[in-house]
Amino acid sequence: MKMIIRFCLTLLLMLSQQVLAQVNVLACEAEWAALAVTIGGKQVSVHSATTALQDPHHVQARPSLIAKTRRADLLICSGSELEIGWLPVLLRKSGNKKIQPGSSGYFMATSYVELLDQRKTVDRSEGDVHASGNPHIHTNPHHMLTVAKALSEKLGTIDPENTKHYHRRYQLFSEQLTTSLKQWQVEIERLNGKHIVVHHDSWLYLAQWLKLKKVATLEPKPGVPPSSGHLSSLLTQLKTNPADMIIYASYQDDRASNWLTKKSGVPKVALPYSVNNWQKDNAIMHWYQEILNNLLAALS
Ligand SMILES: [Zn+2]
Repeated sequence: MKMIIRFCLTLLLMLSQQVLAQVNVLACEAEWAALAVTIGGKQVSVHSATTALQDPHHVQARPSLIAKTRRADLLICSGSELEIGWLPVLLRKSGNKKIQPGSSGYFMATSYVELLDQRKTVDRSEGDVHASGNPHIHTNPHHMLTVAKALSEKLGTIDPENTKHYHRRYQLFSEQLTTSLKQWQVEIERLNGKHIVVHHDSWLYLAQWLKLKKVATLEPKPGVPPSSGHLSSLLTQLKTNPADMIIYASYQDDRASNWLTKKSGVPKVALPYSVNNWQKDNAIMHWYQEILNNLLAALS
């Protein structure tokens, strides 16, 4: 009996040490949670502040989220003002010194890629603009890979014992993504040059990857819901210059795109803004595949 108890205690101790050794990661968006799992594997314990079905511009700093923020060793967000409306409050309430701006546990993905749409001056009358550049970088897989490398290095500095483990997992991800990009080549080429209307400028980097041409935005100004006047003028525009599809994120209200599709005949397509089931293996690859499938389905 004593032997069994001792064995159980040893096992429990070993398990708790393993849990203690993990790096606690808090991701602002599901794509970064997926990337943390991809690069960190068993060495990280990951939570995401939002799911693919939530608007990352607007998040409530609820008590359960504050508690997770308090425990984090590493914070991974898009940055470039995407989370400006809620992250500063969350960080202040958490009181966690490890993940404050400037600390080693503060990782902003947009710091590692060249941002599109940077503005020299911000005029708030233009709406909710992201002045330091469009932050929705994850929809371009090449950017995802750049961030993956930076993240593997960051994890190596926070948890030096496992530097090789993070580097190996990054290399594996790099190989898998490169293979997938080759496999998708025919699908990508079918989308090249297509004209798109977008609900919000969440798809700028998707357009960069697939060489899509954005011809209009449903929001009259960033973050401002589509008005009937703006939609009527878009309808006039589409009647003379038809687009190939209207793209919106699945978390967004689809009434504006429904209306425009019905009136103009331009098909609408809902895309998952972020990675579904981010805990699962290959979640990032499945997400890009889903985006390609949905876009091609809208074309046919
Ligand atoms: Zn935005």
